[in-house]
Amino acid sequence: MDRTVASGAADGGSTPLRNVEVYMFKLIDGNSISNDILEELKNKASILNVTGKNRVLVDIFVGDDEASKVYIENKKKKFNFVGLKFNQVNLPSNTTEEELIKTIEKYNNDIDTNAIFVELPLPKHINEKNIIDRIDPCKDVDGFGIKCLGSLIQGASSFFPCTAEGIIELLKRSKIEISGKHCVVIGRSNIVGKPVAILMLNENSTVTICHSKTKDLKSICKSADILIVAIGKPKLIDDSYIKEGAIVIDAGIHRSIVDGKKVICGDVDFDKVAPHTSYITPVPGGVGPMTVTMLIKHCIDTVNYE
Ligand code: NAD
Repeated sequence: MDRTVASGAADGGSTPLRNVEVYMFKLIDGNSISNDILEELKNKASILNVTGKNRVLVDIFVGDDEASKVYIENKKKKFNFVGLKFNQVNLPSNTTEEELIKTIEKYNNDIDTNAIFVELPLPKHINEKNIIDRIDPCKDVDGFGIKCLGSLIQGASSFFPCTAEGIIELLKRSKIEISGKHCVVIGRSNIVGKPVAILMLNENSTVTICHSKTKDLKSICKSADILIVAIGKPKLIDDSYIKEGAIVIDAGIHRSIVDGKKVICGDVDFDKVAPHTSYITPVPGGVGPMTVTMLIKHCIDTVNYE
């Protein structure tokens, strides 16, 4: 979608402009790109059904985390749309680490289960790292296990963390050149920051990783051709961090209630930043929809590891 910024601000002119060239920024529409991919995956799933290779995801949910419940429902809808089987396994919050490992091993050995997903966060008495590494790497569609992360570093094919891979897919499907660009990633989590930085490196971008201890964050960000933000702080990044014409990808998601209405925003202050970019992802409707879509892609790709 093209957005022409005539008077200088995406919010209708209320944001003061710097004395600079105003860009006609393009919105990277994650919903539309995600829907295109889901249609492609639906076709692939129907072919697998015909050949008797229908995919089954086992989603293991320990406890009663509310955000996980919403995420599971969202996944179920998309799996249903594509025509893949979604098998939810609920375990009580007092499940021990050993019991959870036994459950994972049961599905590792189950020839009818192609993909395993463990909902995070787990209850505090369970060590997440011990659990994730127990999933068979050929079924680890979340891509968080040590083997998948090793393949990521090696540039070998595997399942890569879904949000990070979704960001690369958004850039590629928007026909944005990655090779040779300076990419700054803010955030170094194992879920988003680190894997997206490595994926960008594997795409021949020159990558700088920033985090909470980085000095002079602003000046580093201002040198970015592509700025990927995964901080977890609402609207922290404003226009003072942006090089004119940069591409900005916002992985952040923050939900709040303002004047009785549900409001969702990202780590980027969209209204201030967008007029200074050439491309930007909105929140909601940018990176968010890509995570489950990439998970479904991975479930279908398990056929390559049999
Ligand atoms: P995290 O808390 O694990 O990591 C945050 C990172 O940001 C850390 O590496 C930290 O060093 C860095 N950081 C924090 N404050 C900073 C500051 N002031 N300056 C510079 N760096 C700073 O978070 P995460 O799991 O990587 O998630 C990041 C954001 O992405 C969150 O808003 C989360 O909700 C969102 N997220 C979205 C999806 C999705 O599906 N779209 C998936 C995962 C996470």
